[in-house]
Amino acid sequence: MSGNDEHGDDEHDAGEAVVAAVEAVAERIEAERDHLTDLDSAIGDADHGGNMARGWAKAAGAAGDLEDPDPEAVAKTVGKTLMSEVGGASGPLFGGSLVFAGAELADGVTAETAVAFAETYLEKVEDRGDARIGDGTMVDALTPAVHTFKKSIEVDDLEPLEALAKAVDAAERGVAFTVPIRARKGRASYLGWRSVGHQDPGATSTLFILEEVLEVAADRLDAEVPETDATSPTIPDDAESEPGSDDATPEGAE
Ligand code: ADP
Ligand code: MG
Repeated sequence: MSGNDEHGDDEHDAGEAVVAAVEAVAERIEAERDHLTDLDSAIGDADHGGNMARGWAKAAGAAGDLEDPDPEAVAKTVGKTLMSEVGGASGPLFGGSLVFAGAELADGVTAETAVAFAETYLEKVEDRGDARIGDGTMVDALTPAVHTFKKSIEVDDLEPLEALAKAVDAAERGVAFTVPIRARKGRASYLGWRSVGHQDPGATSTLFILEEVLEVAADRLDAEVPETDATSPTIPDDAESEPGSDDATPEGAE
């Protein structure tokens, strides 16, 4: 990735990029509707594909109707629309968390605000769903994605697009992790041990959303989607910090 400086990060451009991302997500979710429904039929009530396709189509419409959109306004509009249109357990989780996290984009989209957005979004999903990593929900895709993104930016000093690509790879691993574990939250948890062996629909849709955000970000930067994985080494050989030491903790993190 190079020469992206002239792209500028003015509010309007950023707002349009966010609208483009929402439109791409709506298309992808529509394309994956049956896939998501199949996943939800196995361990839920077979409504995740329909719920999400309806919600994101409306959200893309609402975002496209905004005059002179800025990133915060787009995030909040999409969040509110998802809250009212998606329904089920996932509507308030996706939508409510987006409304909250959208405030982090008040100063536009930079590496710093994107990390704050991602962290706030994850915290809100955890709070609202009372779910943590390992519960077999969307949190299992989100947690590795958000942690990897933050670490890639704050510790490894990677370009935002590469950090995002690593985050997507991390989310993919998180989705795979939902298969062999027992669901402890949401409808799938009613199945008890029978939820083992099934991929979580909400984690899967979360991955699709992140994949589309990455595609649109690369497109906007006129760059290829970086080929990377979440575990490829990013710390130089001569790095002084040892795993687990405080040196490896991003600034501002507890
Ligand atoms: P519902 O379960 O009400 O039918 P959906 O089918 O739209 O809602 O969404 C199901 C997805 O929501 C699950 O696959 C899971 O990822 C997520 N989910 C459900 N409950 C929770 C929770 N308490 N915390 C986090 N995510 C949850
Ligand atoms: Mg469902």
